[in-house]
Amino acid sequence: MFLNFMKKEEDGRDTVDLTSELDRSDRKRAFLLLAVRALLQCTREFVLDVKELDTQAFKAGLAELAERLAAEEKLSRVEALFESRKSGISSFAQRQKDYLRERETEFKDIIDILSKAMVAMDSENRDYNHSILEQSTRIEAITHLDDIKRIKQTLLQEVENMREAVRDKESRDVAKIESLSKQVAVLNTELESARTESERDGLTGVLNRRTFDRFLGELVEKNTVKEQNFALLLIDIDDFKRINDSYGHPVGDSVLTAVANKCRQSIRGEDFLARYGGEEFAIILPGASLRNAVKKGRHICQTIAATRYLLEGVDSGDPLGLTVSIGVSVCGKADTAAAMVNRADKALYAAKGSGKNRTCSEKDVR
Ligand code: GH3
Ligand code: MG
Ligand code: MG
Repeated sequence: MFLNFMKKEEDGRDTVDLTSELDRSDRKRAFLLLAVRALLQCTREFVLDVKELDTQAFKAGLAELAERLAAEEKLSRVEALFESRKSGISSFAQRQKDYLRERETEFKDIIDILSKAMVAMDSENRDYNHSILEQSTRIEAITHLDDIKRIKQTLLQEVENMREAVRDKESRDVAKIESLSKQVAVLNTELESARTESERDGLTGVLNRRTFDRFLGELVEKNTVKEQNFALLLIDIDDFKRINDSYGHPVGDSVLTAVANKCRQSIRGEDFLARYGGEEFAIILPGASLRNAVKKGRHICQTIAATRYLLEGVDSGDPLGLTVSIGVSVCGKADTAAAMVNRADKALYAAKGSGKNRTCSEKDVR
């Protein structure tokens, strides 16, 4: 009391002043403690929920600190407590900052890779390229956004746009493939008909000389490996020159076509009919013996001779009658195409020499 009194004299203050100052200091201390607790609460709220940073443990530590600060009476203990946690809080803040910086860099890298990948995507489609380029530019622009939420939304939108562009390209590709397949089918048909055409005689529609030579050659070759009967008939229209001379070439042409049709009607599907030369035809009969081939020749001779042909645009009005002569040969062992044709030709010559309208075989000329 005495000391206080003495002090009062020196300072010029009284006891009442001192008590109220102490009171103010107590309230200030309580207020500061409250402020610190509020700040700790705010920090807890603003901390990012990230597993790698062990946020939950950090938050629990803050809550515990706030409680202990509230409970602690002694100022020195409060100071010591806060001091002991201060460095932990600031190191967490630093780690969180680093984490965000790293994520941002990663994010930018991913967008960069995406943009470059899209630009590099190879496509013939100009529209598609254009739309992908546009998208990559937009995606690049996303890197300039600061708000992660907006980056996410914009990125999702761009991914959807990309999907749409891919779907669109896919359906255009399907349509393109379909139209290409159709074109290929048309070309195949055209190629097939061109090939067929190149194998046929333009006037009569039967196979041409070139196809005949190839087919006969193949058969003769096969025959050297495995012997298989087949016969050759050479058919020549008798006195055809006279028909041309009497009625003109166009009538001669129709006669050639009519004879080709008669021959076609007389043979089977596996048999082979070709126009061999001007008014000559050739028939190959696979599997036929000389006897059977001669029989077939005679049948053809008779059918053609028995038919009357009405001539269009010819005044005489009389139907035309015509005959053919036929020479027959069969493939023998170690035979050649030329030798076979030669023997059939000789037989044909014999048929002509012996009065025409008949069939002779290679046997008749030996
Ligand atoms: P042969 O009885 O001895 O066979 O006498 P041919 O008159 O039938 O025989 P030739 O070889 O003397 O005459 C054949 C004729 O066939 C001569 C040629 O003008 C005619 N000719 C050849 N090719 C064609 C054709 O494409 N159209 C027409 N109209 N005539 C043709
Ligand atoms: Mg002739
Ligand atoms: Mg003739």
